[in-house]
Amino acid sequence: MPLAAKIISDLQQIVGAENVLTAPEDLIPYSFDGTAALKQLPGCVVFSRNTQHVTRVLQLANDSKIPVVTRGSGTGLSGGSLPVPDCIVLCLVKMDKILELDRANLTMLVETGVTTLAVSDAANAAGLFYPPDPGSMKISTIGGNVAENSGGLRGLKYGVTRNYVMGLEVVLPSGEVLWTGNKCVKDVAGYSMKDLFIGSEGTLGVITRVLLKLIPKPAAKKTLVATFAQMDQAAQAVSDIIAAQIIPCTLEFLDRTTIRCVEDYAKIGLPLDCEALLLMETDGHAAAVAEEAAKMEECARKNGALQIRVAKDDAEAAQLATARRSAFSALARVAPTTILEDVTVPRSELARMVRFVAAVAEKYKLRVGTFGHMGDGNLHPTFLTDERNKEEMHRVEEAFKEIFAEAIRLGGTITGEHGIGVAKKSFLPKFAGDAQMRVMRQLKGVLDANHILNPGKMFDRTA
Ligand SMILES: Cc1cc2nc3c(=O)[nH]c(=O)nc-3n(C[C@H](O)[C@H](O)[C@H](O)COP(=O)(O)OP(=O)(O)OC[C@H]3O[C@@H](n4cnc5c(N)ncnc54)[C@H](O)[C@@H]3O)c2cc1C
Repeated sequence: MPLAAKIISDLQQIVGAENVLTAPEDLIPYSFDGTAALKQLPGCVVFSRNTQHVTRVLQLANDSKIPVVTRGSGTGLSGGSLPVPDCIVLCLVKMDKILELDRANLTMLVETGVTTLAVSDAANAAGLFYPPDPGSMKISTIGGNVAENSGGLRGLKYGVTRNYVMGLEVVLPSGEVLWTGNKCVKDVAGYSMKDLFIGSEGTLGVITRVLLKLIPKPAAKKTLVATFAQMDQAAQAVSDIIAAQIIPCTLEFLDRTTIRCVEDYAKIGLPLDCEALLLMETDGHAAAVAEEAAKMEECARKNGALQIRVAKDDAEAAQLATARRSAFSALARVAPTTILEDVTVPRSELARMVRFVAAVAEKYKLRVGTFGHMGDGNLHPTFLTDERNKEEMHRVEEAFKEIFAEAIRLGGTITGEHGIGVAKKSFLPKFAGDAQMRVMRQLKGVLDANHILNPGKMFDRTA
């Protein structure tokens, strides 16, 4: 049922008429997120400017049992901010203030809609460092990062968003505001509620403020790129680097298809006669960085690297990092629909998993480019397809089923950083098991009894 005129006028009362969109042409940009082939017009879009707005919108929605889909920048890759029919899309991008930078405690308090890049820049300007760097960081919001527990290229050494969240302000579906966490380095009072909301994909509450941890900025950094004739050689080089007790801040790979697409797109001068490219970055004290870079070069050489390029300065380092950062955009140019996945396996199984993806693509006659976080065992098989071709889309689905099953068989997970949303909901029960599914449903029922927040995302109300 479309949203009643009374609901729209109540929403206009709460946030101001200019912050409520209802015209079909205004709703279209909010009818999808970064996930391919998923679209649904919402009932309306509401922009909140403060926590009180969020509280009142949720109270209204809860009383009227209207679904609410919380949205940051809509870059999600599992359909988390995809509207459900006749829902209110609650968009938080106008809550984008940095409220406090506390140098004594190394924390930053921000509103939820601030971009990851703005946080990173503000930390940098203060001589500090906010490490999580999802590929979408120029536009993704901190709220979205927390809701998805996003990773990034520096995850291997520095961890993911969760490791930098010290506190959260969350509005529950009832409208009640809950603060969890604080500036204390140690705090074990009660359950770690903030950890429940991190990665909850907008299903349990709306995050309105985030208290972030900052760390000292590394004094030096070195960037290297090595190419290999075989993926196994690159994987072995990674194993050797870790065995040498080096934890680089970045250890990323591209496969042959991705290398070709990136070179075509970014013209970096990458060699094309290779099957794998490894981007390696180490940071820290200058002497340690020099030593680690030399050891990584040695590991690459020992494993038969065809070419090794060491960046001479920051500009060249940024250019080499572009090879990895532009992988998705470069692949997306090649076909009308790009479906990016993110299975993760134990590091030791990564080369086997990459080979498996290639074999599945061949079996189903599909084009695939694979890249990802080699140091984390997190790979992004990206199918280059066309959603208008139903028969091909069916083959893509079949291919993914096999890939997820193999990831689970190898001790991996169906998503390392993009979340479940709607895209992977059918795979979650097999991965999580009965007991975990039951407890997750019970938690949802306690916090969101009317199931207004992102209903039908992650799992259905009943099994
Ligand atoms: C080119 C590209 C590169 C990417 N690279 C990475 C990467 O390297 N690592 C990675 O982890 N992800 C990556 N992503 C995925 C995506 O950018 C992240 O999941 C990001 O955190 C989403 O932020 P957003 O603001 O766009 O959130 P949205 O897409 O708007 O929302 C994502 C989910 O979070 C919920 N949500 C959003 N804000 C809130 C809030 N304030 N309170 C409660 N729930 C909320 C939504 O309901 C939805 O379920 C990439 C995406 C693209 C398109």
